[in-house]
Amino acid sequence: MTKPQIVWLRRDLRLADQPALHHAASLGPVIPVYVLDDERAGDHKLGAASRWWLHHSLASLAASLEKKGSRLILRRGPAPQVLAQLVDETGAGAVHALRHYEPWWRKAEDELAKLLEQSADLALHDGNYLRPPGSVTTGSGQPYKIYTPFAKALNEEMPPPEPLPEPPAIPAPDRWPDSDTLDDWRLLPTAPDWAGGMRKFWAVGEEAAHERLDWWKEHVADYGSSRNLPSDDRTSRFSPHLHWGELSPAQVWHSLCDTRGDGWQTFAKELMWRDYAQNVICQYPDYASSSYRKLDEKTLWRDPAKDPAAASDLEAWQQGCTGYPIVDAGMRQLWQVGWMHNRVRMITASFLVKHLLIDWRHGEQWFWDCLVDADYGNNGVNWQWIAGTGVDSNMFTRIMAPLTQSEKFAAQAYIRTYVPELAEFDDEAIHDPPDDRRGSYPVKRIGHREARERALAAYRKSRA
Ligand code: FAD
Repeated sequence: MTKPQIVWLRRDLRLADQPALHHAASLGPVIPVYVLDDERAGDHKLGAASRWWLHHSLASLAASLEKKGSRLILRRGPAPQVLAQLVDETGAGAVHALRHYEPWWRKAEDELAKLLEQSADLALHDGNYLRPPGSVTTGSGQPYKIYTPFAKALNEEMPPPEPLPEPPAIPAPDRWPDSDTLDDWRLLPTAPDWAGGMRKFWAVGEEAAHERLDWWKEHVADYGSSRNLPSDDRTSRFSPHLHWGELSPAQVWHSLCDTRGDGWQTFAKELMWRDYAQNVICQYPDYASSSYRKLDEKTLWRDPAKDPAAASDLEAWQQGCTGYPIVDAGMRQLWQVGWMHNRVRMITASFLVKHLLIDWRHGEQWFWDCLVDADYGNNGVNWQWIAGTGVDSNMFTRIMAPLTQSEKFAAQAYIRTYVPELAEFDDEAIHDPPDDRRGSYPVKRIGHREARERALAAYRKSRA
């Protein structure tokens, strides 16, 4: 009898262009498995918004598998041991999975390979990136550290392989192993249920991701001109679909590349940032928690654990109460829908690090908990880029002026949506309402000029 094949799913929750599933289905009966391994990632265990997304994505995947006569088996515990146990239970011939690059997943893959040594094969496939992370190298075979040459080299290797279709059939095993029920995992918030805004904003799952891709084909042409305008809301919003693997980058590339124009060219560069971030964490696995530029960080940052004023500033930033409308709109969007427009992510991150002089790791952790697209590589790389502490990053001394940014990128409608107490202000005043007309809206935590001087002084000291 043909041995069953286990497919270990993680951030690759799709049926189409899923090389692990595709390959397994061509070999014999398939047992698709998701293992909830909560403790593995240390201080990067799933955030609250990610758990919400994961619940709905798993429900959607299970429904798609059932339509094909298959099932999704759910287990909980340390993934390598759980999978090795499942191999014993089912007599599986192999475990198939897509390679993941977060340090805890790389470790889990190594552990699993050791545990399976005698009993079954571990077949690792590529498919979550345009090119396998680590494979794009300089002429001398070294990994790139800087985005621009990396993207140039990656572009020379494009297009990615043609996406695979859904397997026409997913053969079922004679006997299904036991499974947890998704509801028992309690991934959704209940008391209180804070996910109302996310339910309205998002449609989760592979089918929804493809509907969004169809919509985006009609809009990508304008990406170059509109991507920085939060009020227009004209970005793809693929990030959670790509992060959870409901959509593969190869599917995105091949669906859009024929549009050719400037919009596509700009969009392709953004997609490459995603590959770049993985390339960075392959080289520096602790990148989401360790700064890579030599600064005296004890001198640079105000520490919320020791300084009550810094603690109060951090809380005001998290709650969207800094007195800077564009910053507060972004932080409230994040809280309500689990996502924030890219331009506003840059403004809010810069504000935390430079205006409030708070260590970027506090921001990274807050985003990690609140984003439905919270991604170890993308989040760490972008925070270090903004903070000026990364291997490729903005200069610390380039300090974004939030009010200028708000006016330049016409954020008035965006502010009205997320800071409703300012809705009555006209287009000019809403970016920085006069103190005596703010009503319940707070005054600025710190003036821009004062914040800028404080940041530059602290930076000089930290380098001395
Ligand atoms: P689009 O503009 O439509 O771009 C298409 C895709 O390209 C995105 O879905 C994303 O996968 C990729 N992409 C775009 N910009 C970047 C970028 N700068 N870095 C890496 N990939 C990019 N993105 C995440 O996916 N997860 C995160 O945890 C995350 N944290 C961030 C933290 C900060 C401080 C900043 C400044 C940016 C962060 N980003 C993160 C990058 C970016 O803001 C989001 O990918 C983007 O806003 C998602 O919206 P979109 O899908 O509409 O993007």
